[in-house]
Amino acid sequence: MILPLTIVGGGLAGLSLGIALRSRGVPVRVVEAASYPRHRVCGEFISGIADAELDALGIRDLFAGAPRPATTAWFDGARPMWSRTLPSPAYGLSRYFLDAALADRFSALGGELRCGERFEDGGEGCVWAAGRAKEESGWLGLKAHFSDLPLSADLEIHLKNGGYVGLTRVENGRVNVCGLFRRSESVSGGHALIAATREAGLTRLAERLGEARPVEGSLKGVSHFSLGWQRRRDDGRITIGDSAAMIPPFSGNGMTMAFQSALAAVEPLTQWSAGAIGWRDASTKIRAAHHRIFARRLGWARVLQALLMHPFGRKISALLLSLGIVRFETLYQKVR
Ligand SMILES: Cc1cc2nc3c(=O)[nH]c(=O)nc-3n(C[C@H](O)[C@H](O)[C@H](O)COP(=O)(O)OP(=O)(O)OC[C@H]3O[C@@H](n4cnc5c(N)ncnc54)[C@H](O)[C@@H]3O)c2cc1C
Repeated sequence: MILPLTIVGGGLAGLSLGIALRSRGVPVRVVEAASYPRHRVCGEFISGIADAELDALGIRDLFAGAPRPATTAWFDGARPMWSRTLPSPAYGLSRYFLDAALADRFSALGGELRCGERFEDGGEGCVWAAGRAKEESGWLGLKAHFSDLPLSADLEIHLKNGGYVGLTRVENGRVNVCGLFRRSESVSGGHALIAATREAGLTRLAERLGEARPVEGSLKGVSHFSLGWQRRRDDGRITIGDSAAMIPPFSGNGMTMAFQSALAAVEPLTQWSAGAIGWRDASTKIRAAHHRIFARRLGWARVLQALLMHPFGRKISALLLSLGIVRFETLYQKVR
């Protein structure tokens, strides 16, 4: 007998797991609260994923033709800190396109996709891929697409004490602008992302955004999330993607972690579905794999984010990089 699975959440983690399981013949239902296509809060800069991993999930072809960011420039306020060629090119692909393409692929493989439904129960046979746990932490994430916005590098990162903003090109010549801000009561007036950028002290960048053209409907915001390992429920639920752990966004590695955590779950869940192992064993295997793959990069990302959001930290890191004492490539790899 083959046991069916329910995946709660049709984001990157849930859909890519669903696709991989369907191609192994496992009956899967994905329950998604929203519908497709939709804009999401995300920098849409995808780095650190290997072609072999995308192949193993059966989704590599969806990345064909996506922009490949290869250079990066970092700024402390308006002051350039460093610019570099990335150790390997990333992908720039919107969630508007990617989530919908994954949903189509899952359905085409015979998966049952139920949109507009919220699922709340966990338990055996149910994989939790519902994104971050809701927690008050003082962070605000905002993103919007812009057109007519020239870039000085394929990925620009603008840092300040009150947050940071990343800019990268996605499909159709559009630029994704996505910021993580310390939440303030006073963000108001005009375009919320431009206002938050200005209030974070990134005035030059806010002016640039003011001269570009925001893409209608693309402005999205999210709050109530905490970074790092997410709080676990004791109901035996298996968690993947942001539901398991959320890496600081400056790393550009959260989407990759969503795919990798799905990949780590494929084999144990296929074995569970075939009756070869119990649910508890599958859960233990998946959690152990997540810790093995993610613990080091989560630790590094946490330390580096704290450093980059402090004025002294930015000065010292720029100095160490300019003297060649620390290599950009080394730090880049530490969060991947
Ligand atoms: C400000 C910011 C910038 C970021 N920038 C980047 C970046 O540049 N690069 C990068 O790689 N990562 C980035 N990330 C991280 C990345 O967006 C996430 O890691 C990724 O979306 C995780 O995918 P997921 O599938 O786990 O969760 P999600 O994409 O959040 O999907 C979860 C899905 O579950 C659904 N859902 C929730 N609850 C229920 C329920 N009860 N029932 C049914 N459905 C439900 C939701 O509607 C959603 O579709 C950023 C994150 C933030 C906050």
